[in-house]
Amino acid sequence: MTELPDRRLLLVHAHPDDESINNGATMARYAAEGAHVTLVTCTLGERGEVIPPELGHLGGAALGGHRLGELKEAMRALGVEDFRLLGGAGRYCDSGMMGLPDNDDPGCFWQADVDQAAGLLAEVILEIRPQVLVTYDDNGGYGHPDHIQAHRVAMRAVELAAEQGWDVPKVYWNRVPRSVAEQAFARLDGDLPGLPFEKAGVLDDVPGVVDDGQVTTAIDGTAYAAAKAAAMRAHVTQITVAEPYFVLSNELAQPLFTTEYYELVRGERPEEREGDLFAGTGEAS
Ligand SMILES: [Zn+2]
Repeated sequence: MTELPDRRLLLVHAHPDDESINNGATMARYAAEGAHVTLVTCTLGERGEVIPPELGHLGGAALGGHRLGELKEAMRALGVEDFRLLGGAGRYCDSGMMGLPDNDDPGCFWQADVDQAAGLLAEVILEIRPQVLVTYDDNGGYGHPDHIQAHRVAMRAVELAAEQGWDVPKVYWNRVPRSVAEQAFARLDGDLPGLPFEKAGVLDDVPGVVDDGQVTTAIDGTAYAAAKAAAMRAHVTQITVAEPYFVLSNELAQPLFTTEYYELVRGERPEEREGDLFAGTGEAS
């Protein structure tokens, strides 16, 4: 096996596009700084709503295949070479929005056995031996079944890997400080007349918003803003970008954050907000 770089970061996401929206600047920054960045995506987002009318015919496996292509393009934009589908492409499919009959599809990620899926992820953890793992909070940031399941699988995989020889020192959940989100939406309201979007979203549309004090870590990705925007644009079926804003299929404008925020949930909580996910691991930049 080839020797991996000293710093290794693993991100666990539900669908292609979540990584670029939540962590695009972080991924680009650490990849550029020579860290090994690994993305594990749990489904191909086969039940995502498609924005461009000319691609509206895509659905199911055809949409999944298309989104895999978008993911590859996004990873090129971020400079990330190691990205994988949990259990291989098509192992788990998108579960659709919470409460839909789609949630009962036996092949969907929501129906996956958590220990089994976590076992597949634990194999990746044991291979990569990351110091840092990033995923969502227990509500999946905003309640989508695949995001909740990604959280459960990631947290269980950390336990399984610890039993098998690699105890991930630091685990983070994606966050946005409430004050940052409020300021960004206030700016958005002023900017809206000049944007190609008709309506502004609201703070509740942003996953992972918490009180500022809960946020332990801020990664300044300002220098990677263009890479993040390019990665988001690569997800053509899902996102329309007009920097520093974007819309999803609901057409409600949201801020595009180039500083990305986290809450440390495994590892020693820092007294002051950190600026490096690897702080305290002996591999800080
Ligand atoms: Zn998602």
